[in-house]
Amino acid sequence: MKRLRSRSPARKTINQSINPFTNKQYSNKYRKLREEREKLPIFDALPQFDKMFNKNQVVILQGETGSGKTTQIPQYILEKGYAKGKLVACTQPRRVAAMSVAKRVAEEMDVELGQQVGYSIRFEECAGPNTLLKYLTDGMLLREAMTDPTLDKYGVIILDEAHERTLSTDILFGLLKEVLQKRKDLKVVVMSATLDTEKFLGYFKNAPLLTVPGRLYPVELFYTEFPEEDYLWATVRTVMQIHAFEEPGDILVFLTGEEEIESTCDSIRKEAARYKDNVGKLSVIPLYSSLPPAMQQKIFEPAPEVNSNGIPGRKCILSTNIAETSLTIDGIVFVIDSGLSKQKCYNPRMRVESLLVSPISRASAKQRAGRAGRTRPGKCYRLYTEKSYKRELVESTAPEILRSNLANVVLQLKILGIENLVDFDFIDPPSPETMMRALETLHYLRALDDEGELTEEGRLMSEFPLDPELSKLLIISPKYSCGEEMLNLVAMLTSPNPFLRPRDHEDAADKAKSKFVNKDGDHITLINAYQGFENEGRQPYWCSKNFLNPRTMRGAAEIRDQLVVKMNKLDIPIISNKHNISENIRKCIISGFFMQVVHKEKANFYMTLKEKQHVALHPSTGVMRPDWAVYHEYVLTSKKYIRIVSSINPEWLIEIAPQYFDLSHFPDTNGKKLLQEIIDGKNTQK
Ligand code: ADP
Ligand code: MG
Repeated sequence: MKRLRSRSPARKTINQSINPFTNKQYSNKYRKLREEREKLPIFDALPQFDKMFNKNQVVILQGETGSGKTTQIPQYILEKGYAKGKLVACTQPRRVAAMSVAKRVAEEMDVELGQQVGYSIRFEECAGPNTLLKYLTDGMLLREAMTDPTLDKYGVIILDEAHERTLSTDILFGLLKEVLQKRKDLKVVVMSATLDTEKFLGYFKNAPLLTVPGRLYPVELFYTEFPEEDYLWATVRTVMQIHAFEEPGDILVFLTGEEEIESTCDSIRKEAARYKDNVGKLSVIPLYSSLPPAMQQKIFEPAPEVNSNGIPGRKCILSTNIAETSLTIDGIVFVIDSGLSKQKCYNPRMRVESLLVSPISRASAKQRAGRAGRTRPGKCYRLYTEKSYKRELVESTAPEILRSNLANVVLQLKILGIENLVDFDFIDPPSPETMMRALETLHYLRALDDEGELTEEGRLMSEFPLDPELSKLLIISPKYSCGEEMLNLVAMLTSPNPFLRPRDHEDAADKAKSKFVNKDGDHITLINAYQGFENEGRQPYWCSKNFLNPRTMRGAAEIRDQLVVKMNKLDIPIISNKHNISENIRKCIISGFFMQVVHKEKANFYMTLKEKQHVALHPSTGVMRPDWAVYHEYVLTSKKYIRIVSSINPEWLIEIAPQYFDLSHFPDTNGKKLLQEIIDGKNTQK
């Protein structure tokens, strides 16, 4: 390519082939992508969007998934200079989407990712001083607001996927509403996929609505005649039927989570391997949030080419909810809908938040079906009966704020200077009980004082992008001389389960794990596994040999590095002393998780102390049925389990969290009686 003679700004406006962002000539790829972009439905709506945007401070944009909202609107605003020298932010509920879309838009703009276009997700910032457009998770924008309450560096903020009504997006709504009053130069665009825009219209009173029609071909619906007993097997069967008998076109399957997606991918691959060349090639691709970026990009690769018999290949993607609206995959003609997804739910009375596989809503089911009709008429196979669609599915899912533990949110709002939570303009206010629980939790954790004011410790907790219980472990670690251990632990607890247990290799996997297992508790087991990884120079090979997921371990290492930076910045010393380390680790854990303690009632039968819930030890735990234990997670499947469990001495509870163990509010149980005896003993000692 010839070098350009002039790079003067005057020239770049005249010369259309010069990229104004880089002063370089546009590549051929840019031209090709530009052609594709101009075919997107959003393109025709841009003039109208322009008018509305210029006349209003808030615009609501509703468009079918795939119409080009996420990729095109931020670029348009940027190209027009509407951010007036400030940044454009576009929020995404999911990390995967933030990364993937930023990458795509960088390509479309012919710039390097991390330069003019970047992204920011928890524990990873890919943006710099040149960044003009930033895709970030809604949670990250909320974090930025904590240090910059008027979000001053942004000229335009786009709240994308607003229909998802995630916890952070909902808080951002309330926050931005206040900021818009203070900053008349700020503009907000609310973008949403489905039809629930009335809620937003009611909330932002004067905002106009622009609807972008998508390319929508009819989608034929099929239901099962009877309820499916095994939806995973039904999935495999349906994929194989489509693959063998239907015309060309890719398949998108909606399942609930990583494990079942991976195992179903395996089953489909096994089945497909039995076919001869009389059917085309089938590439089976998983998609879920914790998948590394390079693997996620696979969903955008074209389907396998024709085989030796001239039969075209087919792509089959097995995805979680991500593919419902967050990521658009072209070429999908067949959708298989399990009717299920993992949903967060919170019971304030029991104080437990858990992810539950639950039936989706009718709105979700429609959205999923719609993914089949983008390129041409499609088919959607619902693995449930028509009767259950009509009678059992709810119309739409309740917003996350009504299904969550709000301790973290309340802490953030306090940092944001919102003193009176009752007056905060929630789009859907959470129940008073949930709010009370959150305040109470923060008080027990000593993040708030008796007057409900933020304490210094609370301020420190809010600095970490973690739940307050986990931040507490890091903050208190110097007291117990277990800083390195807590860093290992928190990094592991914020990552997916690292222990692999592949089918047909269970024994070898268990044997590998046993090297890390500590009889005092699973927390120490996790710490050991991480330490092993670190001692071996963070080798992926070592992970595979030890049945640890190398990706998870690498991710944990990155998180740990970030946490170390944060600790240093906050002047929290990282002190470790091997003397009495097991006890110190568990005492430190209790400092944050004293509300998650159980007492053994019978053999494998435990009871949570205050809420009086019966739970069982999860089969994956390595502790030998201790009388008292602290646990990390409550898992609700067919049974109520606690996962990641460590044995404790009940005396530590009274010593470390006397504020919580005021037994007058506890139900009468054996556990309470024992604790009372310890307290009385202490009192007489005095
Ligand atoms: P919307 O936000 O309205 O759902 P998007 O802007 O995300 O739509 O996507 C518009 C189109 O851009 C998609 O249909 C797809 O063709 C293309 N696209 C988006 N992201 C990618 C990507 N990462 N790789 C390839 N193509 C993409
Ligand atoms: Mg989008």
